[in-house]
Amino acid sequence: MDHFLYREGILHAEDVPLTEIARAVGTPVYVYSVATLTRHYRVFQEALAGMDHLICYAMKANSNQAVLRVMANLGAGMDVVSGGEYIRARAAGVPGERIVFSGVGKTRQEMRDALRHGIRQFNVESEPELRALSEVAVSLGTRAPIAIRVNPDVDARTHAKIATGKSENKFGIPIARAREVYAEAAALPGIEVVGIDVHIGSQLTDLAPFKAAFAKVADLTGTLRAEGHDIRRLDLGGGLGIPYRRDNEAPPLPFDYGGVIRETLGHLGCEIEIEPGRLIVGNAGILLASVIWLKHGEGRDFLVLDAAMNDLVRPAMYEAFHEIVPVAEAAPGIERHPVDIVGPVCETGDTFARERPMPPLGEGDLVAFRSAGAYGAVMASEYNSRPLVPEVLVSGDHFAVVRARPSFDEMLNRDTIPDWID
Ligand SMILES: *Cc1c(COP(=O)(O)O)cnc(C)c1O
Repeated sequence: MDHFLYREGILHAEDVPLTEIARAVGTPVYVYSVATLTRHYRVFQEALAGMDHLICYAMKANSNQAVLRVMANLGAGMDVVSGGEYIRARAAGVPGERIVFSGVGKTRQEMRDALRHGIRQFNVESEPELRALSEVAVSLGTRAPIAIRVNPDVDARTHAKIATGKSENKFGIPIARAREVYAEAAALPGIEVVGIDVHIGSQLTDLAPFKAAFAKVADLTGTLRAEGHDIRRLDLGGGLGIPYRRDNEAPPLPFDYGGVIRETLGHLGCEIEIEPGRLIVGNAGILLASVIWLKHGEGRDFLVLDAAMNDLVRPAMYEAFHEIVPVAEAAPGIERHPVDIVGPVCETGDTFARERPMPPLGEGDLVAFRSAGAYGAVMASEYNSRPLVPEVLVSGDHFAVVRARPSFDEMLNRDTIPDWID
């Protein structure tokens, strides 16, 4: 559910007509809804009610400072995957004790900074990382709280580029080797084992892989406790999918996901952490764009937009589907014609949709990409020297630009020409 609805024939973000945002800020622009963000956070809270838990928003999905502040004010923790994300989370007001640090390649500098400024736990993904973290913690005279990310070898049945829980993926330690690695962790100075971590992939549309992975984590909890480890926290990662096609997709609800957690792990008395990203922010955002023109090709027509793959890379990178709707609602019964919806970037991959039935649209008309709040702006680039796409946050009847479009001067001033070239 989201807060992007038609009212009097115009698509709104909460109470703000998207036409007004387009006029004020120009296009392309991302627009996020505070009400939707809040609702999604609360849905997870309700799903885990009665269990000791912390929702650590996976901020790689959308790390705009204003979005993070909304989450922080709701009480969310954060899952960070780089030193930069750690700094963003702290700047948005998230205390260190609510930040978990994931990722296969944390540098010693990142470990040091997080230990100095406060961290809830490191999700350790390999033995070299474990040993480095031990050395860094000892050098600072402290102890690093850790969970070890186990790879349960479960097929998440999602797009190959976002599946992370199979043995051939780079993530985690094979679950079969967990005992050995936990024994080493317990013996290392500067390391405090607090739990187990697992994350099997993103955009999962079925609960069965979660269930299989969590059951393995439950078994492992028993085994590790029997060997004397104080397993008190289980980090279950993120990955719950969202409906990108509203008419024929119905991924599991957070409530049922919570049910699987309760059923597989509820008896263990552990604190539960989850790291949802996409489900919190995906349907809380749209990408607003304008039609440059309709180009008639041989046998097909191209709707050329002012948004491109550099603004929203998901279709090019993952063959992802986004609903693309006109901001001025199409009259009921109007004829739709198939068009290829493309951006201006000089790559054939800069195609958002092929043969998508669309109502008649022409120069200057506005369209909205739905479900674009996650893995949208964060993956944007300035490829083709297109200014980084701006972002707007809406709450009720007001909105604010939360990341401004850079000027061409700002873009040019990031480069320097060394004087020895001339
Ligand atoms: C990407 C990621 C998440 C979030 O995944 P979503 O599908 O956006 O919920 C959570 N945890 C880890 C470790 C991740 O890499």
